[in-house]
Amino acid sequence: MKQAQVIRVSQETYAEMSENYGGYCTHCGDEAAGVEPDAREYVCESCGERAVYGIEELLISGLLQFTNDDGED
Ligand SMILES: [Zn+2]
Repeated sequence: MKQAQVIRVSQETYAEMSENYGGYCTHCGDEAAGVEPDAREYVCESCGERAVYGIEELLISGLLQFTNDDGED
């Protein structure tokens, strides 16, 4: 089984991407545009893998984690 990257974004970025149909490739970590929030396995323009997921789908699948904006970890 392929190892998927966990995408780390701030909650602010998540909200923006949710509004603007953003997503991420779980293979190379590249940002994707024009992706529905619940998209799955779209072809990545950067690496060619069917690994682009919509931002909400990433969260549901456990592939997205929120960074801590306070600078505390
Ligand atoms: Zn990719």
